[in-house]
Order: sequence, then structure tokens, then C-alpha cells
Amino acid sequence: SIPLGYFGGIGAASRKGILFKGSNFLDLMTKVNTVVMDKTGTLTKGVFEVQKAVTMDGITIDWLSLAADMESKSTHPIAKAIVEYARTQGKDISEPEQQEEVAGHGLKGKVQGKQVLIGNQKLMAKEGIVTCADAAGEVNTVIHAAVGGKYAGYLVIADELKEDASQAIEAIRKSGVRELIMLSGDKDAVTQQVAKTLGIDKAFGDLLPEQKVQKVEELKKDANRVIAFVGDGINDAPVLALADVGMAMGGLGSDAAIETADVVIQTDQPSKIATAIQLGKQTKRIVW
Ligand code: ADP
Ligand code: MG
Repeated sequence: SIPLGYFGGIGAASRKGILFKGSNFLDLMTKVNTVVMDKTGTLTKGVFEVQKAVTMDGITIDWLSLAADMESKSTHPIAKAIVEYARTQGKDISEPEQQEEVAGHGLKGKVQGKQVLIGNQKLMAKEGIVTCADAAGEVNTVIHAAVGGKYAGYLVIADELKEDASQAIEAIRKSGVRELIMLSGDKDAVTQQVAKTLGIDKAFGDLLPEQKVQKVEELKKDANRVIAFVGDGINDAPVLALADVGMAMGGLGSDAAIETADVVIQTDQPSKIATAIQLGKQTKRIVW
């Protein structure tokens, strides 16, 4: 039978907005020595805002409007920002004729009879589109657009750290976790800057969803590691399943992530990662 203390622990966690899908995970939390985190939506708010739009000389086509049509069918936080921005610029949003999500890259499709590409540098490179050199110097996230195979312009998009991000990292470290690692599909410059601001040990950017899986597989080769992965589930559901403890942000997270996760942080606060570890330790003291 399950010791009574575990029920108490699960109940106490639920009152703090942390949903444990089994008492074994409460116990496993006390053994976690490596915390791997996603950036967007986990440590940052995942609410992007377009800061500027730059159109290449000689481009007369309304690429922003075409891009927004494509993005209107995507649930990605970047997509929401682009649609929102296009609206403020007076663009009418209509259905794209064809739209395909290229995971970790952006979108590919057809709008008003034209081929449209909207996504990061990797997407453009893959499609053989040469981007503007100025864009490479931007610190923030850059999303490029091409229409009919021709580079049209780019958007500079920024996200903000969650209020408790700094405190969350400090608390995780105090709870005895040995290593903190961040994995992101966002560009490496942004990823490294966030890691430096928060004091995260190692960070890897420009990762495709399958490369996030590879990173966690590499970490798992060390038998002494007990890994908690924390993500919002947009493009990281496979990693949530692979980690010893998969933790998902419940508010922002996708349904797939909430289903796959072992622990759901319903309040979306990264500081609850340390709270979950502490609750595990307290429960253990009562049980044993
Ligand atoms: P993260 O790991 O930071 O949560 P994702 O794997 O969700 O990132 O996305 C990685 C990158 O792919 C984004 O930073 C963006 O450059 C690009 N991307 C993904 N979806 C879209 C989209 N709908 N429109 C434009 N770019 C996108
Ligand atoms: Mg994400």
C-alpha cells in the first residue's frame, strides 16, 4: 500500500498549483541532480512582441500581410505576435491557401497564389534564400520573410523573462541540483544571453526538436544523472517523455505536453520546480 505521507504530499503540491501524476514522481524529485529547461514559455513569458519590421529596398509587395495570413493558422507564440502586429498595421487577415509548419524553422505555404516562407535563418538557408546582413547583428529573435522565392524583409521580435525566473534558478540550485541546462529552438545569441542573465550553467540554442531529444539522450548516458526536463510542450513533448521526470507548464502548455508530463505546473511559474523538489523532500521525511 502507498504510505499516507505520499497522499499528503500530493495534496500539498496540488494546493500550490503543482499536479503530480503519481507518488513515485514526488520521490524521484528528491533525486533530481540535473534540471534541463526550455526557454520560450518556460523561463520567458512566451508572449512575443514585434519591435520592428524592415523591408528590403525595391520590395513593393505587402509581405507582412501575406506572412500574417500564414501565421494566423499557427499556435506558436511567435505566430500570435506577428498576427497581432499585422493587425495594428491595418492588415486584414485572411486564410492561406496552403500552410505547413516546419518544426523549429517556421512556416511554408501559399497565399494569394504566391509561395510564402516565414521563419528563422535556418528556414531561409534550407530554402536557398539569402538574408539581409543587418538582421544577423540583431540580439533579439529575427523572423525572415520571402515571397515567390525572393527575400522580402524581416521582423525583430522580443520576449520577456518571467517575473520569478531569476529567483527560480537560485532556488533550484539551493535545493541541491548539480547542473542547470537550457535548450532552445530560438537562435543561439538570444539563448546565451538569457542563460547568462539567469546564471544557467550551459545553454544550447538553434536546436531542432530532435536535437533537444539527442541532448537529453547524451545526458542520460551518465547513469548517475537524474534528469528533470521542464518545458511548455510546444515542440518539446518528446523530451518531456524521455526525461526521468517530465514537467510541463500547464497554462501555456499544449494538451500533448500536459498529457505526456509527469508533473504539471499549473501556475506556469518556474519557481515551482524548486517547490516540487522541496515537497518531495518533506514528504520523504514524513514517510520514512
Ligand atoms: P523554443 O525551443 O524556444 O520554444 P521552438 O522550437 O518552438 O522554440 O521554435 C524554434 C524557432 O523556430 C523559433 O524561435 C522561430 O525562430 C522558429 N519558428 C517556429 N515556429 C514559427 C512560426 N510559426 N513562425 C515563425 N517562426 C517560427
Ligand atoms: Mg517552447
